This record gives sequence, structure tokens and C-alpha cells, in this order.
Amino acid sequence: MINDKMFELGNSASIIRELFEYGKKRKKIIGDENVFDYSIGNPSNPAPEIVNETLTKLLKEKSSIELHGYTSAQGDYEVRTAITNYLNKTYGCAESGDLIYLTVGAAAALTILLHAILTTGDEVIVFAPYFPEYKVFIEQAGGKVVVVNCEVPSFQIDFCALRKSITKNTKAIIIDSPNNPTGVVLTNETITLLAKVLNEKEKEFHHPIYLISDEPYRELIYDDTKYPFVTNFYDNTIVCYSFSKSLSLAGERIGYILVGSKAVDAKRLYTAVCGAGRALGYVCAPAIFQYMLPACLGHTADLSVYQKNRDMLYQELTKIGYEVVYPNGAFYLFVKALEEDDLSFSKRAQAYELLLVPSKSFGFSGYVRISYCVNPKMIENSLKAFRALYDSYNKR
Ligand code: PLP
Repeated sequence: MINDKMFELGNSASIIRELFEYGKKRKKIIGDENVFDYSIGNPSNPAPEIVNETLTKLLKEKSSIELHGYTSAQGDYEVRTAITNYLNKTYGCAESGDLIYLTVGAAAALTILLHAILTTGDEVIVFAPYFPEYKVFIEQAGGKVVVVNCEVPSFQIDFCALRKSITKNTKAIIIDSPNNPTGVVLTNETITLLAKVLNEKEKEFHHPIYLISDEPYRELIYDDTKYPFVTNFYDNTIVCYSFSKSLSLAGERIGYILVGSKAVDAKRLYTAVCGAGRALGYVCAPAIFQYMLPACLGHTADLSVYQKNRDMLYQELTKIGYEVVYPNGAFYLFVKALEEDDLSFSKRAQAYELLLVPSKSFGFSGYVRISYCVNPKMIENSLKAFRALYDSYNKR
């Protein structure tokens, strides 16, 4: 006998993956240049030079035993301290390397953290549209997902709905800014108000409500938007970070959990994080990529390429007549479907060789996600198809 729940998870491919696989097959039939695959969020820019330079240097200078051996479970201490020194200097916070736990990316950071804080029946609030894996991670850690829709069309937090959804069982809230799938960055005002609401609710229910800030897109930010670093706003904040997107290292699996230094019983919470990492069998994050980090902090892949893609798509789609959410960050565009059913709209787009992810995948209806970490040439070539799709609805 096997675990049915795990079978079900393994057996149910995500719509994003299905579209991506369909795209690969379709390209073989009609040619790469004729399929406009906007399905997957795989960084399209190479890692910055400093990544390979540092790795080469490490291979020459560090002993093979050290480079390929275990590190301490929470990660090399000097690396952890370098991360908090960088954060403190960049965001004016006061975090400690003693509260950093290195992980294999943000996905592991989230699973470890949720296992560390949740007990059966605890509720975790997510804002729709949301990253679909949140549901899998929360439920696997014994929690219950509570979905609160964002305010439309700003896609900031709907505070009226949030207040109603926080109960005595609320253990945590997850935010993801810049957001996947909308690209929206939560403003200073939103984070300030969120902190106020959570402080009030903590007082009302007499227990901490953790704010989990999932930040794989933190540096992918445009138009001089300033990133509000969340530990500066709310004490019980825990950051889940990843270098997958900022350094274009999604396959190398490196990230971290930062327990905010002002969180209630921060050391105890951090110890539970270490315990969860142990229980889940993570052992340690990849050693070479840990040692690479200090030299690469503050560097990013060339973000101007994403910004140009965003500008071209946003302008051109709006010109055609599409309703597009203006994104200040990440590499996603959220576009209103031209019919109520986003699944049916995505299917129709497929007939024009446009692979757009229906928003149902993110627990929200009526939109599609366009992942624009693609070759700019593909965007140019796809505009004709976007026009034809629009015209097929006789909207002019
Ligand atoms: N959180 C969000 C919102 C994401 O979009 C992703 C990946 O796309 C992750 C977490 C997981 O990132 P990682 O590759 O670091 O595990």
C-alpha cells in the first residue's frame, strides 16, 4: 500500500506544467518560432558573471573536502553572518546570522517553516491569486488554508476581507511581493496597515500571528519602486528568500529562512526551524552554493531585459485593448480574460499558439498569467497572435 494523498499529488500535473509540455510537443510540429510559450517562470537571463567567477575561485582556493562536504545543518556561520550584514546595510534592519537557516530554495524554506510553526487545525491565510504550492505545503504541514481575495484592480490586500478572516486559529499569513502571478509590489501603506491589523488581532487572540514574507522576487523590481523590508514593519515576521530568480540559479537550489530578530521567542522559533529541517531530512543546503553567496549578495541577473519585456508587452497589449494589471516587479503580467471562464479563454488562446496560464491555477478567476522571462523576439512575433485572439471576440 502507498500513501494515497502522495499518489494524488504525484499524479495531478499542474496546468502550468501541462502547458509547458504541450508547448514542447507543439514546437516539434510547427517550429520553435511559431509557438509563443508564456507558461513557465524559468529565468531567461544568465546568472551574473560574478557567480561563475566566484565558483571558479572557490574550486581553486578551497579544499575539495570543504567544498563538497557537509556544512552545519543551518548553514555555514560566516555565510549566514554575511547575509544579515548585507540585509542590515541595505534595509536598515537589525537581523542576526544566528537566526538565518540556509535552505534549498524558497520552496524548502516554506515547507520547513510551516512544519516548524503549525500544529493540526492551525489556519494559514493566503491572498488569491496565490502561488499554487502554498496549498500543498500548508496542508502537508497539518494546516488549513484560508483564502482571502485581493482587492481588484489594485491587487493590494483587501483589509475588510482580511479582518473578517482572521480567527483564534490563525497561525500565519503569507504574503508574496513582488507577486507571482500579478507582478504587483505591496506598497508601504499596505504593509503598514497589515502590521496594524495583525498587532490588533494578536492582542485580541493573545498569541503571535506570524507574517511569512515569501520573497523570491525581492530584487526584481522596476520603476524606482522601493521594497518595504517587512521585518522593519512587523515584529513577528519570518522571511523565506531564494536566489533562484535574483541570480538566475533556480536549478541550484539555494535560499534561506530569516526569523526576524524582534519575533516573540525568536530563538525558540529558530530552534523549531532547525528541528523541522532535520525531520524533513534536508541535512544542509548545497555547500558550494553557500560559499558562493557572500561575494554575490547585492548582485542580480540583468534586470533591464525583464523590464524591457514588461514595457513592450504592457504597452502593446493595452494598445490592442487588453486590460492588464500594471506590474512593478517579478516577471509576470496578469491579463483579464476576454470571457468569464479563464480556462476556456486559455484554450482559445492555444488555437493562436499562445500559451497563457489560466488564473484558476492561482485560486482566482477571470485572468491569465503571462510569464515574460522570454526572448524579446518571441514577444514581438507573438503580438499578431494577441491581436487575432482579441479580434476573435469581436471586441472592436
Ligand atoms: N514562492 C513563489 C511565489 C514562487 O513563485 C516560487 C517559484 O517560482 C517559489 C516560492 C519557489 O522558489 P524556489 O525555486 O526558490 O524554490
